[in-house]
Amino acid sequence: MSAGEIEIIGRYFADLTPPRADVRLGIGDDAALLQPPPGCELAVSTDTLTSGVHFAADAAPADVGYKALAVNLSDLAAMGAEPRWALLALTLPSADEHWLQQFCAGLRELALQHSVALVGGDLGRGPLSITLQVIGSVPAGTALRRDGARAGDGIYVSGELGGAALALALRAGAGLTDALRRRLDRPTPRVACGSALRGVAHAAIDISDGLLADLGRLATASRVGAEIELARLPLCREVAALADERQRLRFALAGGDDYELCFCVAPERESQLATIAALCGVPLTRIGAITAGTELNWRRADGSGYTPDTRGYLHF
Ligand code: ADP
Ligand code: MG
Repeated sequence: MSAGEIEIIGRYFADLTPPRADVRLGIGDDAALLQPPPGCELAVSTDTLTSGVHFAADAAPADVGYKALAVNLSDLAAMGAEPRWALLALTLPSADEHWLQQFCAGLRELALQHSVALVGGDLGRGPLSITLQVIGSVPAGTALRRDGARAGDGIYVSGELGGAALALALRAGAGLTDALRRRLDRPTPRVACGSALRGVAHAAIDISDGLLADLGRLATASRVGAEIELARLPLCREVAALADERQRLRFALAGGDDYELCFCVAPERESQLATIAALCGVPLTRIGAITAGTELNWRRADGSGYTPDTRGYLHF
């Protein structure tokens, strides 16, 4: 490790987040030492953001820092886990002070909201790439998984759909409001909602690649089908305003990047959701029901079937 690296870590990362009592040893040694809470399982997840793929090369570095953590926290939310620690592997073309300072400010803003401690990482030179790893905890045996949905469960989504994809489509041109831009650049991980759904939801997934792909993954893992009522989809206002049905649904079902939760709840527990929605400050909308089959059926308000024409965001 060069003097430059030590200096960068000391200046930007060593004190990025406030200390947590469960961090026995943080940044500076060969590994961090962490104290998991008794009776808990650890939920661990990692995601990489690559320049030119996951964000534009000229994206605001504060947004990149924020989003790198947001997409990781969204995975913990989908497991119902409480975030605790994060590790950051950063590959940079150069030690650009402005970039590092802004990136850290964005990352810190969200880390503080969720009391996440940055406990280690790695620093290297190369094309800009950000890998974040997050570790959370969940009382043993209570995590929300993809494979627990049962026929008859109500299917719900948090928040609104389609806004991030519409923002991406509008990015180059005019008409991109600040509110819409934030849906793409600063998604809100539904951490409190995920925790509150432990013991209530049978299954959950976060919508990173679009409802079509992600509900499909949940259904496959649970070996069930689903019947979705298109008129009930909570579309982001700007998406709902689009005249063309196919275009609206493309943003809502296949756009991705919304980072809302999709989850399944047994009928006898559905009455608990109003309280959870109020506590977490996010709408929870019933969009359909799990079926015994293996197909996803999308229905219009008049009962006619709809065949989505895209498969969501696929990397390969
Ligand atoms: P080693 O060579 O032993 O793997 P490093 O030189 O990579 O250690 O890092 C020294 C210390 O700084 C370690 O505690 C490591 O976790 C931490 N660290 C390195 N890069 C980062 C980073 N980008 N963010 C946070 N901590 C980092
Ligand atoms: Mg070492």
